[in-house]
Amino acid sequence: MKLVILGAPGAGKGTIAKLLSAVDGSVQISTGDILRGAIESGSEWGRQAQAYMSRGELAPDALIMEVMEARLQQPDCENGFLLDGFPRTIPQAQALHQLFDKLGITLDLALNIEVPRDVVLERLTTRRTCENPECQAIYNIKSKPPAREGVCDKCGSAVVQRDDETEAAINRRLQTYTEKTAPLIGFYRQRGLLLTTPSTSSEEVVAAVTGRLGSAH
Ligand code: ADP
Ligand code: ZN
Repeated sequence: MKLVILGAPGAGKGTIAKLLSAVDGSVQISTGDILRGAIESGSEWGRQAQAYMSRGELAPDALIMEVMEARLQQPDCENGFLLDGFPRTIPQAQALHQLFDKLGITLDLALNIEVPRDVVLERLTTRRTCENPECQAIYNIKSKPPAREGVCDKCGSAVVQRDDETEAAINRRLQTYTEKTAPLIGFYRQRGLLLTTPSTSSEEVVAAVTGRLGSAH
């Protein structure tokens, strides 16, 4: 399946993408993960993205398009992809659809995961991430703490709060979502590609997607 996944920070885009990836082997592509990897490896892309990310602001569209144009041409995308965290602005969406035309790709669906703001806030402030870039396991100090406080169950590295998950940065990310990303809902609705689901149960979101895709094929 070829999907764009929309939703506020903390809506659960990554979790849903992992579940959908298990359905048919489509590859999950997270721009946030790619940028964090680029920062970690000290690449030029990472150097350019770092300041924006730590402030909770979007990286420039031109930079993101360069990253994604390269990523979407990797052979693992041929069997399907789940775009998690991209596009995030109308100009990114317009550029992405030009890129799809150029590469002969047809998007199946834009999945919009809807979550109330208080739920998102609660999830983000309690989220913790394994700092090992190879692992990046996600914990929650309330609902899913690691067995030993501050230590990753999977790899033993430190479990930390991402620097864009402080309260100030989170508020900025939510505001950026409302201003820049929420307009994409209308963009995809107009094109007849939008499927909106509440994120209360991940299984139900997955069932809604497979149901919609199954009936369209
Ligand atoms: P979240 O979806 O929870 O905000 P991500 O890991 O997807 O977290 O993104 C983290 C940061 O990476 C964003 O706040 C932003 O600075 C940058 N980023 C990720 N994707 C994009 C994008 N498509 N356009 C611009 N910046 C992006
Ligand atoms: Zn780990």
